[in-house]
Amino acid sequence: MSAETKKTYFERIALIGVGLIGSSLARVVRRDGLAGHIAVCARSHATLDKARELGLADSTTTDPRQVVEGADLVVLCTPLGVYGQIAEAMAPGLKPGCIVTDVGSAKQTVIVDVNPHLPEGVHLVPGHPVAGTEHSGPEAGFAELFEGRFCILTPAPGTNETAVAKITALWELAGMNVEIMNAHHHDSVLAITSHLPHLIAYTIVGTATDLEDHLMLEVIKYSAGGFRDFTRIAASDPVMWRDVFLSNRESVLEMLGRFSEDLTALQRAIRWGEGDKLQELFTRTREIRRGVIEAKQA
Ligand code: NAP
Repeated sequence: MSAETKKTYFERIALIGVGLIGSSLARVVRRDGLAGHIAVCARSHATLDKARELGLADSTTTDPRQVVEGADLVVLCTPLGVYGQIAEAMAPGLKPGCIVTDVGSAKQTVIVDVNPHLPEGVHLVPGHPVAGTEHSGPEAGFAELFEGRFCILTPAPGTNETAVAKITALWELAGMNVEIMNAHHHDSVLAITSHLPHLIAYTIVGTATDLEDHLMLEVIKYSAGGFRDFTRIAASDPVMWRDVFLSNRESVLEMLGRFSEDLTALQRAIRWGEGDKLQELFTRTREIRRGVIEAKQA
């Protein structure tokens, strides 16, 4: 076992939710031998059976309290909307010194929904691995999902430093670059980089599906013109994304307000034939794409 692996070793990890993200993390834990036991909780027996079949679970249960018993690490990997009820249910089973973390796409909500339920001596280190696909469920996961991407941790000031270091080391072993920031800042940044793009994709695909039947057929046929890239994003899990927008309401509404203003300005430029305005914007946006490629996030 390498020094890094030793630093990250957990006797018993409890994963609550074993979909795309949870099962990808379980694969990393298995691959690198980071836990003595992986206990998995999900809602349905079908998901739990699949997790066992894939070799990702040593024990399974539908009971959040039971899954966390004896765990030194608990990772919430469910949609954000059920965090509060899960935290309340699991709290009596948590042992002192246990670290609770999560992978949710919005972070202020974790503090509000989870923290009040945690007993004294349990350390909360919220996290967000900024990596994903449009697929869901235990079979969709893969260990390499996290490689080269960023993971943002948002521990409250004064959080136990060893706990933060252990979660940092866990994601670094998964291949991620770990950054620490406050939850509010995380939610503002992700509102523009992730949440708004998903909302726009859902909107465009929704607009297309409302067209008359003959036009709709043409949309699919000629989708390579740009539409198909939006359909990939708009195929993302409906429950997960419903919860992201409800959880990060304020930041999303703020960015949406700015976006609407910019869209109206473009609408006006097109109406008045102001080509220079359009060209100036499209030139600036090209630079952003170059930046994304240079940062190896393409
Ligand atoms: P997913 O593939 O749909 O999996 C969700 C898992 O949560 C399933 O195992 C599901 O079990 C379980 N679950 C749902 N409700 C539950 C409950 N009440 N009690 C116990 N388990 C429950 O979702 P995902 O894509 O992995 O997303 C999980 C989290 O990761 C979300 O909070 C999301 O914001 C975050 N995230 C997602 C991405 C992405 O691209 N997908 C990227 C970064 C972060 P059943 O199958 O039995 O219902």
